[in-house]
Amino acid sequence: MSEKAQFDLIIVGAGPAGSAATLYAAKIGLRVLLLDKASFPRDKVCGDALSGKAVDVLKELDLLEAVRTLPGAAINRIIFGSPDGSALNINLAESELNQIPEGFVIRRAVFDQFMFDRAREVAAECHENFTVTDITIEDDQVCGVTGTPGDSGERVSYRAPITFGADGYRSIVARKLGLYRHDPKHVVVALRQYYQGIEGLTDQIELHFIDEVNPGYFWLFPLEDGTANIGIGMLHKAIKHQKVDLKQALARSIASPRFRERFSHAVPLEDPVGWNLPVGSKHYPSVGNGFMLLGDAAGLIDPFTGEGIGNALYSARYAVMAASAALTAGDYSRASLLEYDRQLWSKIGHELRVSTRLQKIGHWPRILNFVIKKAEKNRELANLIAGMIANEVPRNRLANPLFYLRLLFK
Ligand SMILES: Cc1cc2nc3c(=O)[nH]c(=O)nc-3n(C[C@H](O)[C@H](O)[C@H](O)COP(=O)(O)OP(=O)(O)OC[C@H]3O[C@@H](n4cnc5c(N)ncnc54)[C@H](O)[C@@H]3O)c2cc1C
Repeated sequence: MSEKAQFDLIIVGAGPAGSAATLYAAKIGLRVLLLDKASFPRDKVCGDALSGKAVDVLKELDLLEAVRTLPGAAINRIIFGSPDGSALNINLAESELNQIPEGFVIRRAVFDQFMFDRAREVAAECHENFTVTDITIEDDQVCGVTGTPGDSGERVSYRAPITFGADGYRSIVARKLGLYRHDPKHVVVALRQYYQGIEGLTDQIELHFIDEVNPGYFWLFPLEDGTANIGIGMLHKAIKHQKVDLKQALARSIASPRFRERFSHAVPLEDPVGWNLPVGSKHYPSVGNGFMLLGDAAGLIDPFTGEGIGNALYSARYAVMAASAALTAGDYSRASLLEYDRQLWSKIGHELRVSTRLQKIGHWPRILNFVIKKAEKNRELANLIAGMIANEVPRNRLANPLFYLRLLFK
């Protein structure tokens, strides 16, 4: 076994969290080793939607101009379909909340390759096709990783005072350090399928709360050249309880009277593919002596919208800030790195708690019918919902029972 040079940081996983962390770290002069088991470009099962939060970080990293030129679709509208068939069409550009940021749908094969290429340019060392298999612990302190390059069967170890687990759902870093959990109450299971030729899909993302996926939703997101990303997602607990077959539920959604016309000339480009979304309805520990977990490895996905890229990017920002302070102080203990968890959760914790309550409202089709019908006729409410989705207006107004009571009398 060979042992390689020291770095300030080892980052396991070069998805949005790991690549963004590399970029933030390089900005302040840290020497990063970035490792990923995949060869890029690689697919990642996802809805591919980048909303305001992701745009915020891309702007901070000076990447937004370049992201605008990637193949994909720019989003100007959001459509919410209610269980009874009515739909709320929100035009973001016309919204009176004129600070609503832009959004995109870009295949993850494209977006992640773009981020990885930028990260590779600034990392001290970077290896794709390198699978991390073990964590080195000395005196109760994580001090490096071991893994296998390609199919070589060789074992290579690297050392650094701090390791980031940015390696997604079922993170090897979380598993080896005893922090991995799969609780069906806090995991959504979702299917994605790329399509060509769905009618009426241009510059809008569509979220339909329909009987075929309850509680959960059916999404239709446009991509470039008439292609689209569609899918469904449901809480794992509900899937088990209702014994739902997700593939059949997706097929039923497509064939339902509301959608079958739009799919009449559409062609699937793949079989449905599934993956898990560890949602942030519970605040799990994400820090220990010498390590931090980022993005999906820390379970940060919004339980209401399923958006995880934005929070993964935010976690990169705060993890690097905490790592930088720890490196300056020479203190890599859990107590020192906990600053990451404090900063991150003070930024996203409130919103995640509100989204957890909103996720529960999704169990009640009548409330959804009611809100969507009201908003169709009420511009003020439609603007408010647009702002909440774009993170410009606090979401807790939607999760407050008094909000619905007031609506009754409007
Ligand atoms: C069906 C579905 C739809 C979704 N839709 C959306 C959406 O529209 N918008 C949105 O914002 N979010 C969406 N999400 C959530 C989003 O995909 C995740 O939150 C996001 O990918 C998290 O980024 P990450 O960098 O933490 O992890 P990942 O993107 O999972 O990246 C982890 C990386 O770690 C690498 N890795 C794993 N194990 C190892 C190992 N042992 N050694 C080395 N490398 C390793 C992997 O190869 C991978 O590149 C969706 C998720 C699903 C499943």
